[in-house]
Amino acid sequence: MENKEKEKLIEVKNLKKYFPVKKSSFISKPQYLKAVDNVSFHINEGETLGLVGESGCGKSTTGRSIIRLFDITDGEILYRGKNIAKLKEPDLRLYRRKMQMIFQDPYASLNPTLTVQDLISEPLDVYHIGSKKERKERVLELLEKVGLGKSHMDRYPHEFSGGQRQRIGIARALSSNPEFILCDEPISALDVSIQAQVVNMLEDLQNEMGLTYLFIAHDLSMVRHISHRIGVMYLGKLVEIGNSDDIYKHPLHPYTQALLSSVLEPDPKMAKKNSIITLEGDVPSPLNPPSGCKFVTRCKYRMKQCHEIEPKLIEKESEHMVACHLY
Ligand code: SF4
Repeated sequence: MENKEKEKLIEVKNLKKYFPVKKSSFISKPQYLKAVDNVSFHINEGETLGLVGESGCGKSTTGRSIIRLFDITDGEILYRGKNIAKLKEPDLRLYRRKMQMIFQDPYASLNPTLTVQDLISEPLDVYHIGSKKERKERVLELLEKVGLGKSHMDRYPHEFSGGQRQRIGIARALSSNPEFILCDEPISALDVSIQAQVVNMLEDLQNEMGLTYLFIAHDLSMVRHISHRIGVMYLGKLVEIGNSDDIYKHPLHPYTQALLSSVLEPDPKMAKKNSIITLEGDVPSPLNPPSGCKFVTRCKYRMKQCHEIEPKLIEKESEHMVACHLY
């Protein structure tokens, strides 16, 4: 996918989000779960950055930290160059309006007692956007954008299919006219037949409205389809990031290579070429991660230094960065 815009909308620098864990006694040291540990990347205006990795790798926590659903532990979150990491209300309000989220489970994220009209206009009410008449017109306009219509306005979420509910969730996310949308596994709960429709709609909306997406998913084939660039996370660390085609055609990190080897290849010739790489063992506990490279316990290329020194993210090829001592 071609990426025309190059101006950074979001830049994350050394982001850390640690969750305190209950101490077992008064004398034991406080323990922290390092969900996101020193992660840096940027998202260009108008592009989609896909963020992938196994469950618990910190991808959702990274996204939710960016839109300030969490107070972060340390680091910077720059929005058009302004650090919003420590911003509090009411200054944060402007950015909350510009950054919205599409949830994984469209049913759980929509209040079942509200009609579609109320659900979509709620953000407009919160941010005091437009008169009552203008809000109603805006709801109708948004419903049409997501393939629904006037007849759906007075209905409740339970009256819709999963795909339609996600369309309502998307219309709601768009109502405050945001620039940035965190798409947190937005298609995982949908039937396979519906997934492509929702992804295509997100692409159309991006082109039409100039939206910027952080697209979090574990379905790697769909991530490739929608993303201009892709970041790979493992145990709270960003281990590789680059243009989608570079990541898919020439993955550098052993973890990325293993992840991609498990993607089903529609072309039988390619499928034969790309044999599946089975990872040894399980993901270590984030409460007790290995020292050095976090992937060391499962990596077939590990060397002595991998146990001792944490690899830094370096630019190995043009705009293709990797954190591994092999490079
Ligand atoms: Fe494997 Fe070492 Fe590279 Fe980590 S740094 S991915 S252990 S080779």
